[in-house]
Amino acid sequence: MGKIAIMGAMREEIEPLLSHMDNIKETHYANNTFYEASYKGRDVVVAYSKIGKVFSALTSILLIEKFRCEMVLFSGVAGAISSDLKIGDLIIADGLCQHDLDITAFGHPYGFVPEGEVCIPTDVKLRAIAKEVAISKGITLKEGVISTGDQFVACGEKKEWVAKTFKADALEMEGASVAVVCNALNIPFFILRAISDSADGSADVDFDTFLASSAKVSADFILEMVERV
Ligand code: SAH
Repeated sequence: MGKIAIMGAMREEIEPLLSHMDNIKETHYANNTFYEASYKGRDVVVAYSKIGKVFSALTSILLIEKFRCEMVLFSGVAGAISSDLKIGDLIIADGLCQHDLDITAFGHPYGFVPEGEVCIPTDVKLRAIAKEVAISKGITLKEGVISTGDQFVACGEKKEWVAKTFKADALEMEGASVAVVCNALNIPFFILRAISDSADGSADVDFDTFLASSAKVSADFILEMVERV
């Protein structure tokens, strides 16, 4: 079994992972820190990318090409779209799209550029493992489309637009770029998010309040998955 990449966007998203790791070796590269470690006998590389699509693409490429990881698991927080997602609930992406990618002036759909696809599916086997973990822990796990853009959405109208345009259940700022990278490099990947806010007028306050607790919910779940892959 090869190395497993576990990434987040923010330090707060990987801290609850690192506290469980053994034999941590830090490497500084490309203005970032990569933590090679072991978790219950598995070789892992943990990193947070910094926020947004460009940084998360960069970090996922390095985890694969430089650190030779053979799968990518993302753990973090997201804004809820679906009304059945409350703060602290978990969602796994069945597919990811970019809500801020727009060449519709040329007749293309939102989120599409030539030779790309609007929605990139995540690995089916990793989703199945997540469902096993959820059952064993008695956790409700939602599965749906996660929509990504370089924007913190804190506005009901924008959220409704993303919901309608992409049939999305949650939104965040990194998933789809990790998806593009892993899809291109043929690396199985999985995106997990715990809800930190509802992407509406109070999203900024909720985010600050629930970042740490929701990040931990997601991290704990990812660690259970690592044991099973
Ligand atoms: N408070 C931070 C910025 C957080 S940006 C700071 O000042 O540095 C929000 C992060 O959480 C992103 O990594 C994104 O992936 C996720 N996220 C959570 N809620 C979101 C929302 N409503 N819209 C977009 N991204 C959201």
